[in-house]
Amino acid sequence: MHICSHSNDVRQRVAMWQGEGLSVGLVPTMGYLHRGHASLIEAAARENDRVVVSIFVNPLQFGATEDLASYPRDLSRDTEVCRQGGASLIFNPSPDELYPEGFCSYVNMEGGPSLGLCGASRPGHFRGVCTVVAKLLHLVQPHRAYFGQKDAQQLAVIRRMVLDLNLPTAIVGCPIVREPDGLALSSRNSYLSAEERRAALCIYEGLLAGKSLVEAGEAGTEAVLRAVSTRIEAEPLARIDYLALVDPLDMRPVQTLNEPALCATAVYIGTTRLIDNLLLKS
Ligand code: AMP
Repeated sequence: MHICSHSNDVRQRVAMWQGEGLSVGLVPTMGYLHRGHASLIEAAARENDRVVVSIFVNPLQFGATEDLASYPRDLSRDTEVCRQGGASLIFNPSPDELYPEGFCSYVNMEGGPSLGLCGASRPGHFRGVCTVVAKLLHLVQPHRAYFGQKDAQQLAVIRRMVLDLNLPTAIVGCPIVREPDGLALSSRNSYLSAEERRAALCIYEGLLAGKSLVEAGEAGTEAVLRAVSTRIEAEPLARIDYLALVDPLDMRPVQTLNEPALCATAVYIGTTRLIDNLLLKS
């Protein structure tokens, strides 16, 4: 497995593989890899001859008051996760490599799935995500790129961007990997104290409360949202940033539950903001 920090090295290696007729999968990450990331790498290794994992804490997708400086990093452990998952190459660029002096070209989604949810509570976030993912797709030119359903809105935004910009890569969505008690794996879980870790379970339990209600025949969105928020707000360390029932493809709020709807939430546990979602269908 190779580790590259320069775009030209990645280009050359991928060009060599593609010249040999090998298929290439890309897994974009911000590192501090866990089993959720590993599941994406393993899926990419099953479906492609070669797998590129990018590890880049993208400054462009963090707001001024967010956790860019403290975001956890551990390249040697990440290297092991990539190796075990079957990756062929890690691309670990510096911010200057992707955003050199004078950089001023951005990919900005102005509507569709980027509105609402994280798009509303983190202004500029999806501009940062789209810009870096578009750059990675251009650089690596993968046949397939893998994204987690954990970031459901990001997945919808990337699918839309690839369609809008006629990018030739197939976007593959992968299921959420959870801890045994249900907490969705996230690099940010490492910020949680033991007490916060216990409290964080309210997120998944809240989503499950909504799921049970819908499965029992409840068709009213307000009643379902109330059931979810009641469980989350019962936890003193939790504060809901957003909670919504949205269409799973375009992320617009739904008015009825006749069709499957995604219950998506962002919750602060202490100062740590976690996101999660669950598909609800009657
Ligand atoms: P991140 O490093 O947080 O930017 O995530 C990189 C990719 O891993 C994104 O496509 C995420 O959706 C995905 N991912 C993160 N956590 C999980 C999880 N618990 N299960 C599945 N995929 C995940």
